[in-house]
Amino acid sequence: MTTRKINPDHALYYPADTLGLEAEEMRRLGHKVVDLVVDRLMHKNVEDAVLTGSPADLMAVLGAPLPNKPMDPDASLALLAEVALRHQQRGDHPRYFARVPGPSSFAAVLGEWLGTGFNAIAASWAGGSGPATLELIVIEWLKQLMGFPEGSEGVLVSGGSHASLTAFSVARSVYGKGVVYLTDQTHSSLVRNLREMGWPKQHIRILESDENYKLSMECLTRAIGEDRAAGRRPVMIIGTAGTTNAGTVDPLHEIADICQQEDLWFHVDGAYGGPAAITQQGRQYLSGIERADSLVLDPHKWLFQPYDVGCVLVRRPGALEHCFNMNPEYLKDVEASAGEVDFRNRSLELTRRSRAVKLWMSLRTYGIERFRKAINHGIKLAEFAEAYLRSRPETWEVITPAQIGVVCFSLNNGTPRQHAARAKALSDSGYACVSSTRLKDRSVLRLCTINPLTTEDDIMGTIDHLETDIGCSTILGRNCS
Ligand SMILES: *Cc1c(COP(=O)(O)O)cnc(C)c1O
Repeated sequence: MTTRKINPDHALYYPADTLGLEAEEMRRLGHKVVDLVVDRLMHKNVEDAVLTGSPADLMAVLGAPLPNKPMDPDASLALLAEVALRHQQRGDHPRYFARVPGPSSFAAVLGEWLGTGFNAIAASWAGGSGPATLELIVIEWLKQLMGFPEGSEGVLVSGGSHASLTAFSVARSVYGKGVVYLTDQTHSSLVRNLREMGWPKQHIRILESDENYKLSMECLTRAIGEDRAAGRRPVMIIGTAGTTNAGTVDPLHEIADICQQEDLWFHVDGAYGGPAAITQQGRQYLSGIERADSLVLDPHKWLFQPYDVGCVLVRRPGALEHCFNMNPEYLKDVEASAGEVDFRNRSLELTRRSRAVKLWMSLRTYGIERFRKAINHGIKLAEFAEAYLRSRPETWEVITPAQIGVVCFSLNNGTPRQHAARAKALSDSGYACVSSTRLKDRSVLRLCTINPLTTEDDIMGTIDHLETDIGCSTILGRNCS
């Protein structure tokens, strides 16, 4: 390791900031940002769970002519903190249960800030060996947590969408073109990726899921047989480890067996549910996840990271580089040798920030045991919600039981309109936020309970609010016309 001393003759010739803020001013504004963030974190449970503005209102406050002259940074920070950044879903609010919450942790935010402040770059080894090392370490940790074998590799990208695109590219570079199998519960971003990669429509077999919303092995083997008989070439099966809709896990071991027998690529989408595998109970649900050829995780969902960071792990050594390697003449002097990794050669991103900093910082600060407890809490809360709903059969029907942090339920004979109205009234009240969604032809309400700060009271309070057909006027005395 090299540490170089700063030569005092070279120091302080330049102002601290490229465009001219003085050091003291940078410190003052920087501390102010820390205070704004921590103040907000301390009060997040009394904020509205979601706040949406109208385009006209937001533009009126935030919009302005092109700023040719400097403007007051304190005033701009105030507008950001009080208006722009308030109008969003508070994914870390203890009663934000919609879609997938984002209960980001502060140590991860610290890592993000520091990495951005140092303008960390994780493109090539020569250009960023420190950040590249962090990424190698973090990938190694994630591999261990998921039970991936020695020699498998990975890369961090912007999220689940880009991660599955990366995985599909690798799968295609190994297996070539052919038919891919998924279900009607597979996340829509995966189908979009296949389509945009030029996968022909007739090679994307969307199988009807079974009565538990899982991949039906019978359907799958029949489809593979039909395709082979028709001269088509099966190449990949996609299993979901925790569907966004219902937290359902496809039969991972059985799919892995078929992939082995038929020589197919096994892709697992664990963007939502993958992290649950670090808990004992989650591991049972997700058994077989470690057999994937490629596995996608979204640390910005259930690993408590701020947006954005997704991850893809690939079992086959060298397959990522084989697919994405690009070493043109203008990058020759930043080419890696043994032991060094050029992350630009593991996905479609060349210049890329270091998403590993926040993971490295937060995994060390809290330790895996703390993550395990936090994730387990989310699994238990969904079970609590299910039990509470079942104790009120005069109002509620449980449609899918609690599965790794998600429960779906319905008003007795509830219509899509009713569900949407109840969800909207609740959001408008600011008290909590839940999703209304569809499971095949059923309309449901849905809670995703992955925030470690959420209590059983929060769950009961939310369900109680949903229970009263309050219309849109009286929750918390607020008007939401
Ligand atoms: C969220 C999610 C995705 C997409 O991930 P992004 O980070 O939003 O791009 C894919 N699959 C599943 C199961 C998800 O929950």
